[in-house]
Amino acid sequence: MSITRPPGRPGRWDVSITGDRITEVAPTLPHPAAQTLDAQGNLLIPGLVDGHIHLDKALILDRYPALDGTFNEALRETLNLKQSFTVDDIQNRAKQVIERAIAFGTTAMRTHVEVDPTVGLDAMKALDGEAAGVIGYTAETFQTPS
Ligand SMILES: [Zn+2]
Repeated sequence: MSITRPPGRPGRWDVSITGDRITEVAPTLPHPAAQTLDAQGNLLIPGLVDGHIHLDKALILDRYPALDGTFNEALRETLNLKQSFTVDDIQNRAKQVIERAIAFGTTAMRTHVEVDPTVGLDAMKALDGEAAGVIGYTAETFQTPS
């Protein structure tokens, strides 16, 4: 891979990748690569990590626009909206968020998943394995009062 400007290294550098690991960084690599990507002077950075997301409640603003923009409004209206959540609905919204995140360089996520009397285990069922094989993620479950 012909990449430029790895952090802390001025100028253009070549980066050799084997599997999912960087194996060599040099101004010019002496051996030919099986596949080459010309990064055209762009910055090389590690994959982004989203350490706090709620995939089960993502992309619902179009269902109830925040009128007050307050935390209490968000809690109240999210609780109302959760009553219409289904496993398919949660999966579809989560998939859209994951695809967008990947497109912008995110390689790992830590999502919170609510378990409560309103959604029961639907969010867990929806997200269990949804992101597996696509993006590294962990799910943290917490219980919320309804
Ligand atoms: Zn949160």
